[in-house]
Amino acid sequence: MENTKNLRSWLDTFGLDHPLVIAGPCSAETEEQVLKIAHQLKDTDTTVLRAGIWKPRTRPGMFEGVGAPGLKWLQKAKEETGLLTTTEVANANHVDLALQHDVDILWIGARTTVSPFIVQEIAEALKGTDKTVLVKNPVNQDLSLWLGAVERLYTANVNNLGVIHRGFSTYEKTKYRNNPEWQIPIDLQSRFPDLPLILDPSHIAGRRDLIFDLCQTALDLNYDGLMIETHFDPDNAWSDASQQITPQTLNQITADLRIRKEEDTTVNYTNALNTLRTQIDMIDTKLVEMIGNRMKTAEDIGLLKKKNNVAILQNKRWTEILGKMILQGEDNNLSEEFMLHLYKAIHLESINHQKKILGN
Ligand code: PEP
Ligand code: MN
Repeated sequence: MENTKNLRSWLDTFGLDHPLVIAGPCSAETEEQVLKIAHQLKDTDTTVLRAGIWKPRTRPGMFEGVGAPGLKWLQKAKEETGLLTTTEVANANHVDLALQHDVDILWIGARTTVSPFIVQEIAEALKGTDKTVLVKNPVNQDLSLWLGAVERLYTANVNNLGVIHRGFSTYEKTKYRNNPEWQIPIDLQSRFPDLPLILDPSHIAGRRDLIFDLCQTALDLNYDGLMIETHFDPDNAWSDASQQITPQTLNQITADLRIRKEEDTTVNYTNALNTLRTQIDMIDTKLVEMIGNRMKTAEDIGLLKKKNNVAILQNKRWTEILGKMILQGEDNNLSEEFMLHLYKAIHLESINHQKKILGN
């Protein structure tokens, strides 16, 4: 699908000199709570007030949102503070209600993006409106589902679009509630280069202390905005208590973030950058040659195994290599996570090369 529309005009109309900030509670709890947070956010960099009205909870029996009455609270917050509003919609009925209550931006949650039927239903319900819609990444690491949801909206002529990166669920526990997997949104952007990209550090982190670093990484990667869960009393929030921050902390975070320029055209900078890029290109060429050599050696081992009728996978040897390489990685400032990814990929490629030899 050729992308010819300007998907980011809604963002450009804000004319911001800093990344877009969307902030507010995970859930709208009471009218007083929504209004109090909105008033506190008015004095921050926030442009859009978020609050979940319908909450998709993984397990039943938890607080599932206040439902339609909360939309009136958002409307009132907008009237009183001038902040725009956004909430999550998960079916056509939510869309209708949100439109009736003049919600400015709708977002599609991670548990909805995984379902093409529901995304299609939402896209149909939005046809002919000029609403801005932000699509969160699906819970699982599936770029096609994310792209598919954007394409369904795009095809329904929803032309004010953006995506929210909220991290991906993993079976193995990491320090994050949802692992960032930074490469996936980068891949999405290569398909839709103009699509505004917003980070939701709250759902990635699951805890307050990781939020600043995640935001900084996003700005270093040229993200267009941040969606941060904010509550005046985070510990007593009705949902996602451990990841919400106060409006005061939000202010501190946005003040401390380093906003980088997208480009610098001065000769000094361009020359220095070119020199470094040439070095990187040379190193990359060498890296690929070395990996190619490693594979050739693996094939020699394959031949030897074939002659002696020995199985390809030698588990003990593989565990030894991995352990050794993780230590060497440490000495070279490379994280264990990276070394694991790298060596699993190298090992798999080696096995495939040996298989080719054994198959002949
Ligand atoms: C939320 O933003 O409160 C939410 C439920 O997010 P997600 O869909 O990313 O889990
Ligand atoms: Mn939440």
